[in-house]
This record gives sequence, structure tokens and C-alpha cells, in this order.
Amino acid sequence: MRIVIYPGSFDPLTNGHLDVIERAAKLFDKVVVAVARNEGKQPLFSMDERLDLVRACIRHLPNVEADSFDGLLVDYVERRSAQAIVRGLRAVSDFEFEFQLALMNRKLSERVETIFMMPKDTYTFLSSRIVKEIARLGGDVSEFVPPDVRVALSGKLRHCAA
Ligand code: ADP
Repeated sequence: MRIVIYPGSFDPLTNGHLDVIERAAKLFDKVVVAVARNEGKQPLFSMDERLDLVRACIRHLPNVEADSFDGLLVDYVERRSAQAIVRGLRAVSDFEFEFQLALMNRKLSERVETIFMMPKDTYTFLSSRIVKEIARLGGDVSEFVPPDVRVALSGKLRHCAA
């Protein structure tokens, strides 16, 4: 069974993430979307909220599941008996950081491969950070995120403003 881990903060999941998930689901028997705890990043959505949103948005994909993880990614990959990590590459700007991360993960575990996938061109400018910024300023994000995420964003920001 070929299992791939797609790690990230997913704060929140965007259509760009979903595009990578759908592509990976065609190549692997199982894709595990692994939501990182990442306390340093001060996420807008809690771990449970991010996980619930990912679960809601992958309902249509039978070989995709969501999970959370803490600690070293390569240890999690081993625990899940996965063969690879998938990461999205949007533009050259992503490359240096992703290259560093992939080589470091290889140093930590020779067995784990990192695979890069490019999203559909219309999603290359998308990031969770930009989506949150647009939503915060009252812009329409329905083109950029799945409907469940759009609803959660407007609920969260209404709550924050109150
Ligand atoms: P991180 O916390 O590592 O920044 P993110 O949740 O933002 O994680 O993203 C996880 C992965 O998804 C990263 O590999 C990132 O490059 C990729 N990614 C983020 N947005 C997009 C997008 N619009 N298209 C393709 N890949 C993306």
C-alpha cells in the first residue's frame, strides 16, 4: 500500500491545498492530510477546527483521510508506515524553503522521499495567509476556498470583531 503524507498548517485549507490533495489521491493508495500543531504560528483556527474543516472538504475523496501530528514529521511518516511526503510548489519563491526542508528530512530519514506537486495555475497565487487577509478586510473568498471554509471564516471573523 503506497501511503503519502501531506503536512501543513492548513489554517485554513484553500482550493490550492485541495488541488494538491486531489492530484496526490490519483497517484497513491492513501493520502493522509497531516495538520501540524505548530504553536509558533499562532493559527486563526484551533487544531480541532482546522482538522474538522479538512475532513469536511475531503468527504468526496475515499482514499484521503485527515489526522493531526506533533513533533518531527519524519517520525510521523514512519509511524504511519508511509513512503513519501507531498508538498505543493507554487512559485520559485517556495522553492528555497521547500528544498531545504526536503533535504533536511532526507538527512533525518533516508527512507522518506519528498514529492512536489504544482497546483492548477489559477491557484499559484493562493495562500492561507492571503485568504485570511482578504476575509478580514471584508472581501469575497468564495473563489479561493471550499464552501465549508468560507462559512467558517466569516463565522470566525464575525466572532473576532464582536
Ligand atoms: P506551512 O505551514 O508549511 O506553510 P501550509 O498549510 O501553508 O503549510 O501549506 C502546506 C503545503 O501546501 C506547503 O507545501 C505549501 O507550499 C502548499 N501550498 C499552500 N498553498 C498552496 C497552493 N495554493 N497551491 C499549492 N500548494 C500550496
